[in-house]
Amino acid sequence: MVHFVGAGSGAVDLITVRGARLLKEADVVIYAGSLVNPALLSYTKEGCEIHDSARMTLEQVIEVIKKAEKEGKTTVRLHTGDSSIYGAVREQFDCLEELGIDYDVCPGVSSFCGAAASLKTEYTLPDVSQTVIITRTAGRTPVPERESIRALASHRSTMVLFLSTSLTEQLQEDLMAGGYSGSTPVAVVYKATWPEEEIFRCTVETLHKTVTENRLTKTALIIVGNCMGEQYQRSRLYHPGFTTGFRESSE
Ligand code: SAH
Repeated sequence: MVHFVGAGSGAVDLITVRGARLLKEADVVIYAGSLVNPALLSYTKEGCEIHDSARMTLEQVIEVIKKAEKEGKTTVRLHTGDSSIYGAVREQFDCLEELGIDYDVCPGVSSFCGAAASLKTEYTLPDVSQTVIITRTAGRTPVPERESIRALASHRSTMVLFLSTSLTEQLQEDLMAGGYSGSTPVAVVYKATWPEEEIFRCTVETLHKTVTENRLTKTALIIVGNCMGEQYQRSRLYHPGFTTGFRESSE
């Protein structure tokens, strides 16, 4: 049996209770060493076989799993954040399906949720934005043209950019060309929820300068949007003048 487990965004105690239990029970752990906090490995039992997938190919990962299966062992494949976001899990699922190996998925706290907590920000504010776009800039990995930053920026919703700190000059230009004003608030969160977390607040206009001056090349998220601004309407859900299925209006 293989369990794909979301490790959470960084802090050791942000893994789910289920994920921690699966890690404790695992005979074999394959973890994404480039991003998963290695301190999470302290949950594993003595004698657990540990592999760092940062140095492995998909084929090698599958070989480790196949061997463990043959020996009747349980494997945890530990991915950073939640594995559904840039996790490269689909290809692993398909290999396991083909081999008839049973697997399941345990969700994790994605870094975009970890970052919201660190920023004390609500991404979906009434009258500001009710949409969160999760995307990335095109780099060595292409992005479909219809999902270009310019096209997505036209919505001026909250936007969370993964894997995008290396091309911020173009990103800044595209965000503005697409529709965000230069003064739209931006936060760059380095290693959200890790002990070494750092938060840099700027605007779309000063994004590139902020990223380069602070040498933010890795493990950072760029969050764009007026959800980090001053203006918003309070929610109707908790308004005394609003009736819900649980509460009568008192006005
Ligand atoms: N599955 C992961 C994302 C993997 S892609 C998740 O759900 O969070 C790797 C990218 O995620 C990094 O380049 C960075 O942009 C972002 N990232 C992952 N962990 C992060 C963290 N703790 N703080 C900021 N960004 C993070």
